[in-house]
Amino acid sequence: MEKIGMLSPIVEMDGDEMTRILWKMIKEELILPFVDLKTEYYDLGLRNRDDTEDRVTTEAAEAIKKWKVGVKCATITPNAQRMEEYKLRKMWKSPNGTIRSVLDGTVFRAPITVSCIKPYVRTWEKPITVARHAFGDIYRAAERVIDRPGRAELLFTAEDGSVFRETIHDFTGPGVLQGMFNRDSSIRSFARACFGYAVSCRQDLWFSAKDTIIKQYDGRFRDIFAEVYETEYKEEFQRLGLKYLYTLIDDAVARVIRSSGGFIWACKNYDGDVMSDMISTAFGSLALMTSVLMSPDGCFEYEAAHGTVTRHYYRYLQGEKPSSNPVAMIFAWSGALRKRGELDGTSELAAFADRLERACIDTIESGTVTGDLLPLCDIPAVAVSSEDYLKAVRARLG
Ligand code: NAP
Ligand code: MG
Repeated sequence: MEKIGMLSPIVEMDGDEMTRILWKMIKEELILPFVDLKTEYYDLGLRNRDDTEDRVTTEAAEAIKKWKVGVKCATITPNAQRMEEYKLRKMWKSPNGTIRSVLDGTVFRAPITVSCIKPYVRTWEKPITVARHAFGDIYRAAERVIDRPGRAELLFTAEDGSVFRETIHDFTGPGVLQGMFNRDSSIRSFARACFGYAVSCRQDLWFSAKDTIIKQYDGRFRDIFAEVYETEYKEEFQRLGLKYLYTLIDDAVARVIRSSGGFIWACKNYDGDVMSDMISTAFGSLALMTSVLMSPDGCFEYEAAHGTVTRHYYRYLQGEKPSSNPVAMIFAWSGALRKRGELDGTSELAAFADRLERACIDTIESGTVTGDLLPLCDIPAVAVSSEDYLKAVRARLG
């Protein structure tokens, strides 16, 4: 059989623990036999990050800027315990954080839906993607516990020396205080990433905030979204029959629950933190959740939303056959291959991505699943090892 060719490479970022083992298995079983794979390989495994003083992470992010498409394995974000375990020179930063800051991107999380795993919400038929703004607001706020009476003020000193001052509250006793910010540039990048992503996957975009209460702050978000829509995306949305909807966060929550799915929900930073966990849990399993980082200049980085599945890895090291779920990782590969195919005009590559995803879903729907899905399936199913699941998918690909 002739393998499918590629015109330009995908940036491949290897990772850690169980997902590193699965990464190799997925490539060997499902990609290399079918695709004449071109990748630019970066080893983001913790040992190599330590050996390269984390330069490899920045190099990988720069490579995504160059090649526009990347696929990433889950990686350990070091903490004190990992410092000891890996004898690290430094507590390196989260690779995802580093990549996000180089690409200035927005993260989109979408569930993979299968017919035998019903979402907790009966009306949901299609996936709901949450786009979370990943900069500012309470994540960069200043805060204080107030332990005595006094006046709290909002004070802004401009570079030209002019000042504005507004009383927030006259405390007559103890209380709490917080000050937060965002930047137009970051909100605009976020809006562009959301509209661009909606166009790239042909789905409606909803954006929610609370501009009835937070009139200026959330009003600014609303206005920037409206401006980006009007000036940059309206025509394309109309041509594709897509809708843009701005609504209040509480109204959005009610609409989301009543909807049949199939749209992108853009959320401010905190709303996105909360709502993405709600959506992923309600759809069924963390192991069926994909994640795409898209930058405003059109770079895409695909990965699974889950981590390195450490507990399974330790059991694997003791000789147990893993039954970790590789589906979200396979979808990271298929997402990257499809995007590469779209950007390079190689339709066979995009078609292969479709076939690969279909084969994963059909395998689950025929009752061959990894251990994590067994309790969620509403059909008679058998739990198999990761390896046997991959073999079953391979058999469907011919
Ligand atoms: P995790 O690796 O996502 O695992 C949490 C639990 O979820 C697992 O113990 C497992 O439950 C279940 N699970 C997750 N993915 C699964 C899969 N594919 N198949 C079956 N079950 C799955 O999160 P964590 O334990 O909090 O973090 C582990 C390491 O991953 C940490 O070092 C963290 O820094 C890193 N991390 C990386 C990323 C990333 O690179 N994007 C994201 C998150 C975390 P059971 O054990 O009950 O079976
Ligand atoms: Mg969270």
